[in-house]
Amino acid sequence: MADLLVVGSVALDSVETPFGKVQEALGGSATFFSYSASFFTPVHVVATVGDDFPEEHLKLLRDRGVDVRGLQVAPGRTFRWTGTYGYDLNEAKTLDTQLNVFADFRPTLDDYQARVPYLFLANIDPELQLQVLRQMRTRPRLVALDTMNFWIKGKRDALMRVLREVDLITINDGEARQLAEEPNLIKAARRIAALGPRTVVVKRGEYGALMVTSDRFFFVPAYPLESPFDPTGAGDTFAGGFMGVLAGEGATDEAALRRAIVYGSVVASFTVEDFSLNRLKRLSRDDIEARYRSFREMMQVELRGV
Ligand code: AMP
Repeated sequence: MADLLVVGSVALDSVETPFGKVQEALGGSATFFSYSASFFTPVHVVATVGDDFPEEHLKLLRDRGVDVRGLQVAPGRTFRWTGTYGYDLNEAKTLDTQLNVFADFRPTLDDYQARVPYLFLANIDPELQLQVLRQMRTRPRLVALDTMNFWIKGKRDALMRVLREVDLITINDGEARQLAEEPNLIKAARRIAALGPRTVVVKRGEYGALMVTSDRFFFVPAYPLESPFDPTGAGDTFAGGFMGVLAGEGATDEAALRRAIVYGSVVASFTVEDFSLNRLKRLSRDDIEARYRSFREMMQVELRGV
């Protein structure tokens, strides 16, 4: 198993869906990512929180074995995100983003973190993503990145710079179209690949995930759920499972990438069953394996007459 480092947001999320709402629940890209990845490999977080961040949230991550020594506690308020969803749970509408302590955050990696073989630059200011890349002392085996509309619109130049240096990107379908300025998803993915990342993984919410490289495609549906509840964090959970499997296997080949996409989809399907990390908290590796098996069966089809 290889070590995995994530740099991203740790947040307090206020979310409303047609099925309920929560105020200031634990969220953030690095939070969902690291919790999900921890089922597969050792994971280290670099991020910041304010002095208002509840200790119980740190305990939750520590209890899963997530290394939170790189989580700086700064004077001030924790990052806050407020969002809402209509019956189409695929599209989050951001009502408010308060960067708070992230506005002055300077990520600093220690010697060990600067040599990790698997690095994930989770959704965060692309200038911070660049600062992290600049501190790496050895070239990781795999560097992947995620981003969102907030940064595509607000920090496009910095995002373009960091994209040139990564191997893989995970991105929502709507944001892929926005980044590439291209409505067709396949063309958009290819255009993004030309910006730097050779592998583009497009997250399509309830429609699954698509992996595009210069000459290959791979597509999986989402695990069909009858009662999705809150999709917040599904994308980061997907990325955590995906990178966790690759780091866990110490691999980056096509077969591992495919397995990683299915595991990512499986863990993400649990996240949407409840608010925040509430469903993940009750999750075991056995639950993941059982759903992975049923996912495989769901996609299997026999040849005719043989
Ligand atoms: P997703 O996995 O795509 O649903 O991402 C959800 C998480 O993204 C939430 O827990 C938010 O706290 C976090 N988030 C929202 N906006 C931003 C932003 N501008 N930068 C970093 N993280 C964000």
